Amino acid sequence: MSVTASAYTSPSGAFADALGALRRQDPEIADVLLGEARRQADSLQLSAAENFTSAAVLAALASPLANKYAEGYPGARHHGGCEMADAAERVAVSRASALFGAAHANVQPHSGSSAVLAAYAALLRPGDTVLALGLPHGGHLTHGAPVNFSGRWFDFVGYGVDPATGLIDHDQVRTLARTHHPKAVVCGSIAYPRHIDHAAFREIADEVGAYLIADEAHPMGLVAGGAAPSPVPYADIVCATTHKVLRGPRGGMVLCGDELAGRVDRAVFPFSQGGAQMHVIAGKAVAFGEAATPAFASYARRVVANARVLAGALAAEGLDITTGGTDTHLIGADPAPLGMDGRAARARLAAAGMVLDTCVLPRGARRGLRLGTAAVTTQGMREDEMRAIASLLGAALTGDERRVRAVRGEVRDLAGVFPPYTS
Ligand SMILES: *Cc1c(COP(=O)(O)O)cnc(C)c1O
Repeated sequence: MSVTASAYTSPSGAFADALGALRRQDPEIADVLLGEARRQADSLQLSAAENFTSAAVLAALASPLANKYAEGYPGARHHGGCEMADAAERVAVSRASALFGAAHANVQPHSGSSAVLAAYAALLRPGDTVLALGLPHGGHLTHGAPVNFSGRWFDFVGYGVDPATGLIDHDQVRTLARTHHPKAVVCGSIAYPRHIDHAAFREIADEVGAYLIADEAHPMGLVAGGAAPSPVPYADIVCATTHKVLRGPRGGMVLCGDELAGRVDRAVFPFSQGGAQMHVIAGKAVAFGEAATPAFASYARRVVANARVLAGALAAEGLDITTGGTDTHLIGADPAPLGMDGRAARARLAAAGMVLDTCVLPRGARRGLRLGTAAVTTQGMREDEMRAIASLLGAALTGDERRVRAVRGEVRDLAGVFPPYTS
């Protein structure tokens, strides 16, 4: 399972060849793919959920494993010809288990949401009560949104963050657990910039006899690199994506102990999914191999160091930083002191070539901005670039139209120095 510290050697060779063939057959879609490659390279990807996966992962995604049907699990498939598919999945599973110190890994979930669905399916029945971070405080759609299967099929009770500090209020979590006796407690968020206190959640879950599900979709790459605490010793089930800080292909995974392994596997297939996407599973194996290298550990540390510098520099530009900083790749920022809400700010920043998301804020119904440093750190940017980004962002938010256009040019110049894929 030795893997070189995979540099970002160019897909441009392979990508260029593939694109050439595609262009001859389908110029319309070839233009779309080229346009997207250019967009990613000449603007700043500050969305906290995105990253640049390696050329090696992209190669796995573009491989003929994409053609293979492989319902079931290695050694027990519902289709013939699964020798190589089995090999890919066995490698992915053993790398994931070793990387995270988990007894069991299921690498088949098609997405982070599918991983959460599988966790619920393994532990709950429709109508069960679940305690999770409320959506207005940073819970994910799968944490009880009325428009999502979770809100339709389970009875969600939401805990919140302290409006003054933005931090999870564990006393409130405990009180709600005692009052509602949930079957499961979920920790994890789309917007929380601090480490989750898994031990505190474990204690609360134990007190009321609930399962603990950790939805680590965001920080799992930091966990892999040793830059965030692991939920594995505490949670009954850990769900994650493989494409956020972890930098693999789009997809999900589930980790658990031996006792729940069979239930988790059946919850993924055949309960909630059909054939696994074997090319993606091969890509996950590649990403787990990369994430086990010292180079990835230093990447994870840099992601956090960059986020801390960026958060401080954004505060100096006048934005109000959620919880006053960050422990992770993720930053919440309220642009209200600059006289606008998150939506207006996101639009201005998009015009300036800075791509990010809006998000909930600890106080009130207003939306703020959510940024992350996973992608720009993969590009090789360091503290100086974080300060430059903060000042460009401040200029785009406060400048007139001419200034925003000038910032767009400066963003293009900065991004040009750090191409995500070099040739
Ligand atoms: C991103 C995310 C998910 C869902 O991942 P998808 O791959 O988009 O389905 C689930 N939970 C949390 C906390 C997330 O941040």
